[in-house]
Amino acid sequence: MNKQFDVVVIGAGPGGYIAAIRAAQLGFSVACIDEWKNGSGGPAPGGTCTNVGCIPSKALLQSSEHFEHAGKHFADHGIEVQGLGLDLGKMLGRKDSVIRQNNEGILHLFKKNKVTFFHGRGSFVKVGEGGYEIQVQGAAQEALTGKHIVVATGSSARALPGAPFDEDRILSNDGALRIPAVPGKMGLIGAGVIGLEMGSVWRRLGAEVTVLEGLPTFLGAVDEQVAKEAKKAFDKQGLKIELGVKVDEVRRSDAGVAIDWTNAKGEAQTLEVDRLIVSIGRVPNTEGLNADGVGLTRDDRGAIVVDADCRTNLPNVWAVGDVVRGPMLAHKAEEEGVAVAERIAGQHGHVNFNTIPWVIYTSPEIAWVGQTEQQLKAAGVAYKAGTFPFLANGRARALGDTTGMVKMLADAATDEILGVHIVGPMASELIAECVVAMEFRASSEDLARICHAHPSLSEATKEAALAVDKRTLNF
Ligand SMILES: Cc1cc2nc3c(=O)[nH]c(=O)nc-3n(C[C@H](O)[C@H](O)[C@H](O)COP(=O)(O)OP(=O)(O)OC[C@H]3O[C@@H](n4cnc5c(N)ncnc54)[C@H](O)[C@@H]3O)c2cc1C
Repeated sequence: MNKQFDVVVIGAGPGGYIAAIRAAQLGFSVACIDEWKNGSGGPAPGGTCTNVGCIPSKALLQSSEHFEHAGKHFADHGIEVQGLGLDLGKMLGRKDSVIRQNNEGILHLFKKNKVTFFHGRGSFVKVGEGGYEIQVQGAAQEALTGKHIVVATGSSARALPGAPFDEDRILSNDGALRIPAVPGKMGLIGAGVIGLEMGSVWRRLGAEVTVLEGLPTFLGAVDEQVAKEAKKAFDKQGLKIELGVKVDEVRRSDAGVAIDWTNAKGEAQTLEVDRLIVSIGRVPNTEGLNADGVGLTRDDRGAIVVDADCRTNLPNVWAVGDVVRGPMLAHKAEEEGVAVAERIAGQHGHVNFNTIPWVIYTSPEIAWVGQTEQQLKAAGVAYKAGTFPFLANGRARALGDTTGMVKMLADAATDEILGVHIVGPMASELIAECVVAMEFRASSEDLARICHAHPSLSEATKEAALAVDKRTLNF
């Protein structure tokens, strides 16, 4: 007989494991199924985020930043470093242990919250009497029935047509996080978040990195002024970024990869590299779910079609995270997971898409929330803008990291904050205050009147708020 649950969650990435925990907190009996395997074939819950995404990339960004600081910036502080060396094996090992800690943490959280975990692939069988029948195949072979199903199966890297990933020379985010030796020359196709983060890691460790981007503008979704400032910093660091590129052919050999491409002026070029990372977007994971068998609707991209509340076309079947529309971000997946669990419980779960923060963990970091200046212009919204450079911030000077600025956009009539855009040190942390402010519909004056600790980078946010009213105190 099938094991019966109130809620069965398929996928234990940030969308799925958080949905499972929240549903259990609300008193439901919950199962969570995930097929990810660690190096020994055991369970590795946490999805893309934990295993080949957010967490390992940040571990390597941190390690490579330490290496670059020791080599290039410690001397500015009067610290002499001799015999600086790189033990890449140890660096990658540390990253793997950070992943393991997160995998184990999630298994512990499942136990603590009484979520039953199944290691294997989950797929729909049919709609039965007590709900949907779900087959688990893998380390666990089980038949489950769930009154509610939450699909949180995530996404995978999109390959370039004609150049499949071999994770040796042509790498997705997975292979890019475990290259065994620093390549002399590295190519990167796609200057998005993942491409810039991966390119930064390997450049800092010594690779000569060239990034080929199809779009004519750099970071088109980012506020133009902020994107320009970031591009200046990346150029200075030696990250070669080519925009408006057409990739014609990718040829792999045992020695490396040759990329034939056409530049923005229409000139034919060839780039020869030891390794190529392709980061041109991600594809929703629905293979193996038997979505068609139960009539679960997907769109042209393969994403599961949901309404604003994450309801699919099937009663009591929900979908969250990368497998549905919206930004492919771990915290967006988590918010949807919580909201769905609460909706199942008859509560009013809520996700505010306008206050989802975005972060690119390069150096300088880039973070933003809300509307960009170009979006406000296009929508005909009257706005006021205030900017404050980190160059004029005491803490940034003390840190020796004065690149960038905070830029705030507020409604011209009501002064409500409409967007905040940061490029500079710890932008990922500074943006949280702005998210809270926007969530509470604060005005720039509200932020400007709040006491901020001195000396802190957050004073730059307060000063940007003052700048909206043209009354900065320190610039
Ligand atoms: C290199 C990189 C860096 C990133 N950095 C960030 C960042 O800094 N911040 C951020 O917010 N986002 C980041 N992201 C994006 C983030 O990882 C995703 O948005 C997030 O993981 C999506 O969560 P999810 O739960 O929807 O899916 P996933 O994390 O993809 O998890 C889905 C899980 O479902 C499992 N699964 C799939 N099908 C089945 C099945 N049929 N049965 C059982 N299990 C199944 C998969 O094995 C996986 O474990 C990054 C992504 C990459 C690739």
